[in-house]
Amino acid sequence: MFARAMHSPDHPIVAQVVPIRRCNLACTYCNEFDAISQPVPLPEMLRRIDLLAALGTTIITISGGEPMLHPELDEIIRHIRRRGAIATLIINGYLLTTERIRRLNRAGLDYLQISIDNVVPDETSKKSLKVLDRKLELLAADADFAVTVNSVLGSPVRNPTDALTIAERARALGLTSTVGILHDGSGHLRPLAPEHVSIYERILAFEQSLFSFAQYDRFQRNIARGLPNDWHCRAGGRFLYICEDGLVHYCSQQRGHPGIPLEQYTHDHLKREAARPKPCAPFCTISCVHQTEMLDAFREDPRGTLADMIARRTAHNPAYQPPLVLKALTWAFLDGRNRRLLGKLALHVLRART
Ligand code: SF4
Ligand code: SF4
Repeated sequence: MFARAMHSPDHPIVAQVVPIRRCNLACTYCNEFDAISQPVPLPEMLRRIDLLAALGTTIITISGGEPMLHPELDEIIRHIRRRGAIATLIINGYLLTTERIRRLNRAGLDYLQISIDNVVPDETSKKSLKVLDRKLELLAADADFAVTVNSVLGSPVRNPTDALTIAERARALGLTSTVGILHDGSGHLRPLAPEHVSIYERILAFEQSLFSFAQYDRFQRNIARGLPNDWHCRAGGRFLYICEDGLVHYCSQQRGHPGIPLEQYTHDHLKREAARPKPCAPFCTISCVHQTEMLDAFREDPRGTLADMIARRTAHNPAYQPPLVLKALTWAFLDGRNRRLLGKLALHVLRART
């Protein structure tokens, strides 16, 4: 994914597609679901994947609503893989069974994110460890794809220590954990209370087995403190959100912009919309778009970005040991003895700028 994302500055790194807007739950902070929508017909979903593949999309993420409600989800995943993209899926986990996990294996799913909001259900969310723990065990036992469990902090969360309990349980099962920050029911982001910040830092301090960008997320640390981020959002170019009607939007929270049918979306649109300033950028909480931006930052200044990532981690944990992939990149890019030859070779392979 990393190397393919580096391939050019103009193709979409991630496109999120919605095969069904309906959800089997009704979390009070969520503005991305309804209770009535029908699934997008399979031929139309396959056509949209073909169009995204033609734009050169690296990763196609299926979200919703609850995408497991789509009766032909496996065929959508299979088609993403056939078209050479990486297939990822974001679900609430309620509909997982062993048989369903094995079908996702056979379809070729690459990566699954399951979100768990609390330990026991409350009026805000029923995505609870009490209900979903058995589903995590099934995933740990049978999934051939990578699994990340995302817990949350923020004003709608009643008990912040839940996020830590969820992250620790995920890790005990051998799954990866991340933590997101929720806006409140009116869509406003509030600084995290000190107790939430402290738990956020503890979860981020967990060692991750792979080169996880969530681990180096300079954006989330500012968001946690209610501080703005100074960055340029390239949504509409590097990140696309394709709604159930087949329109291209910047992201789930900026639907209607630009709102162009996918079949009319060209490479000129990708460049134009990526370059357009987004007034929502300073307080944006869309971590998938932040991550595409971090890849672009690496592409444009690999040495500076690596040095910055390591400095941030070391500032929080002086005993920090980078994961293997990061060590290899550091060796190639930052160590003076190797930098000239290997750095140039790696930059050439990744097609990053020198
Ligand atoms: S499960 Fe996901 S899509 Fe459904 S209401 Fe909750 S946050 Fe929204
Ligand atoms: S800044 Fe955030 S909210 Fe605004 S368009 Fe970009 S991703 Fe969406």
